[in-house]
Amino acid sequence: MKIKKNIEHFRAVIPPHCTLIAVSKTQPLEKIMEAYEAGQRAFGENKAQEMTAKAESLPNDIQWHMIGHLQTNKVKYIAPFVHLIHGVDSLKLLQEIDKQGAKVNRVIPCLLQIHIAEEETKFGFSEEEVLQLMQSGELENRKHVRVKGLMGMATFTDNTMQIRKEFTQLKSFFDKVKSLQKPDTVEMLELSMGMSNDYTLALACGSTMVRIGTAIFGERNIH
Ligand SMILES: *Cc1c(COP(=O)(O)O)cnc(C)c1O
Repeated sequence: MKIKKNIEHFRAVIPPHCTLIAVSKTQPLEKIMEAYEAGQRAFGENKAQEMTAKAESLPNDIQWHMIGHLQTNKVKYIAPFVHLIHGVDSLKLLQEIDKQGAKVNRVIPCLLQIHIAEEETKFGFSEEEVLQLMQSGELENRKHVRVKGLMGMATFTDNTMQIRKEFTQLKSFFDKVKSLQKPDTVEMLELSMGMSNDYTLALACGSTMVRIGTAIFGERNIH
């Protein structure tokens, strides 16, 4: 009941051009079904095997978003069905997605993850690396990947000024890339930023996809 209310709440506060991704990692199938019955179709997971197992047990019209760090050797598990891979953080991973996409005859939509936080631990390209990648020729003729935009995670802090600064910086980089001449496999349509504790700021800074876990499902079981 509470999950349904939370979904309805987010649907009311998120603008129509923005997608709500219900982050269901570690959550059991029945909780996901509660959200599904409230009309939610986009779900986010951060482990390939967990996502695959859930996809096999749940309705076919769910759109599965891979939001975590993805190891290259795990791409094959999700290639047949994944809706969007948010955390592409290396050329090696992009090459593997292209290869696995070819095997299953799909064009797999991806976002490039940009490192915007102060923490060293968060994955992602620097802005410079993305610009270099775009000019390297490596993105040309990759028929089985399509870069749809960017993703970022702000520093984990209560300092809203800091978070706003990081989201604003990502949005302006997104706009810059959008205005550049790009390889034919790259479009700048989606900007995935914002989680339970910072989605309001993210929306104010131009997010088109928010990834909300705790604020929908409650605290996660640690496993
Ligand atoms: C877990 C996770 C989220 C959701 O976090 P909440 O704070 O529970 O909303 C969003 N994005 C990524 C990349 C995550 O790993």
